[in-house]
Amino acid sequence: MGLTIMSRSSSETVGVRYTGWAALNRDPLEDLVEYTCPHCGTRGAKAARRARSEYHFTDGFVQDVQGEMSACRGCKRSLRISPVVLLHDQDEQRRFNAVFSADVEISNN
Ligand SMILES: [Zn+2]
Repeated sequence: MGLTIMSRSSSETVGVRYTGWAALNRDPLEDLVEYTCPHCGTRGAKAARRARSEYHFTDGFVQDVQGEMSACRGCKRSLRISPVVLLHDQDEQRRFNAVFSADVEISNN
């Protein structure tokens, strides 16, 4: 599948923004993008900044391909979270895991 992720640089990482089912158990004001640092593997989260209207259906997921910038709290390096994928039910979560699982494995260099 022609996922945008294939052409990303090493400072980019995929982000996940949960909504709907996945957000049922949390504070509705806590709308976070979760990600894993591509440099050191530290998991992080930041407040989602972009409106959901800026997310578009691409490659089978609703995602923001422009992404957001953040900085790792572990290694302090800046990173680009792109794409940010919106997941709203467990089926999507499973599909996301299948498509992106190879990508979220951390390289140690
Ligand atoms: Zn890091």
